Amino acid sequence: MRIKFLTHKNTVCRDAINRVSTFFILFFSTLTLNAQTTFLKNSENFSVCSESYDYKTNTISFKPYKDSLNTCALWFRFGMTGYRKDTVLTVKSVFDESSYNPSFLVFSYDNKEFFPIRNRYKNKHLEAVLKPEKDTVFFATGYPYSYENLKKFLDENTPHKNLVKTENLDTASEFYIPLLTITSKKDSPKKKLVWIICRQHAFESVANFVMEGMLKYLLSDDCNKKLLKRYIFKIVPMTDVENVVSGLSGRMSKPRDYNRDWDSPIRDRIKILENKIAETAKEYQYYMFFDVHGTFPCGSIGTDDFSYFDLKGDAKKSHNLRDYFGRISTKKFRPIPDNQQSYGGMTADWWNFLNFKELRFSTTVEIDWIENYETYYKIGEEMIKGIF
Ligand SMILES: [Zn+2]
Repeated sequence: MRIKFLTHKNTVCRDAINRVSTFFILFFSTLTLNAQTTFLKNSENFSVCSESYDYKTNTISFKPYKDSLNTCALWFRFGMTGYRKDTVLTVKSVFDESSYNPSFLVFSYDNKEFFPIRNRYKNKHLEAVLKPEKDTVFFATGYPYSYENLKKFLDENTPHKNLVKTENLDTASEFYIPLLTITSKKDSPKKKLVWIICRQHAFESVANFVMEGMLKYLLSDDCNKKLLKRYIFKIVPMTDVENVVSGLSGRMSKPRDYNRDWDSPIRDRIKILENKIAETAKEYQYYMFFDVHGTFPCGSIGTDDFSYFDLKGDAKKSHNLRDYFGRISTKKFRPIPDNQQSYGGMTADWWNFLNFKELRFSTTVEIDWIENYETYYKIGEEMIKGIF
């Protein structure tokens, strides 16, 4: 089967034209600072505000997008064209209201392939210099992973015989929110059910690279046949698509973010997810739940690592994946109580063994900001292999 992505609901033609023209107006109403200098900032997954350019010093100053008190000054992505190429280009953040600082600056000339750039803090501002080789350059906090990236990956890797079903998790959304079912063809109620959701927080783009590593393995011909025969995977690779597309952080978004809406959900997507999990838990042996996150974009960098929360707290029942994770991660897992009082409504409060007694292992995985893509993919692949 081929996945069809409908990025917009069917609307009357005039609506469509309005949308298209609004898009182009937005796209081209980039801030023109002089005849040649332009900021590119209204494409998918772009986020920056209060940008400026000084011709004399060839310096770009910018403020990361501020979408909530909790996450301001962390996440940004934008492009720039029309700077001087005869000298170094300096890029610096001018945000000083946050207790968090943006970090892990990466740049790209084609907005596809990004490279780390050495940055430092000077008077509380992130600063980096680059000798530009091309006319346009893009900057971001860490490697971006957009909705387009996900669509491209799924287009390139499907159809595949291991992907037995693809559905739209939330038909009310203007975006297609993929829910993938991966298993062997032969169905059986004895199959062990593994739910994996990812990107409840839009700015944690690292999480999607690990997710891609998981999917790459599951949708490869090398995938363990016995694993597919005995297990059924239900996977939501990108939960908060809207905020990913808008370039917002998603964390602590009002009235509450996806990850904190699980106790008595007000967001339809979480209601649908809870219903799907409960429904499928009756059809199969509900066995594991992973919620894949990334640390803050200012979090641990370059450690080639991940950590996870042990929410099960029941050593006897615990799956050996816990030990396996302990071996492949150099960090020790951090056990947390089943109810995190300070984070009411978190995913973890809902999906742990209090609701599903047969669950063997459930965890929130936190991925660090790693400089090598392959490491992300490897972590994802290892996580799946560790199940079996
Ligand atoms: Zn998160």
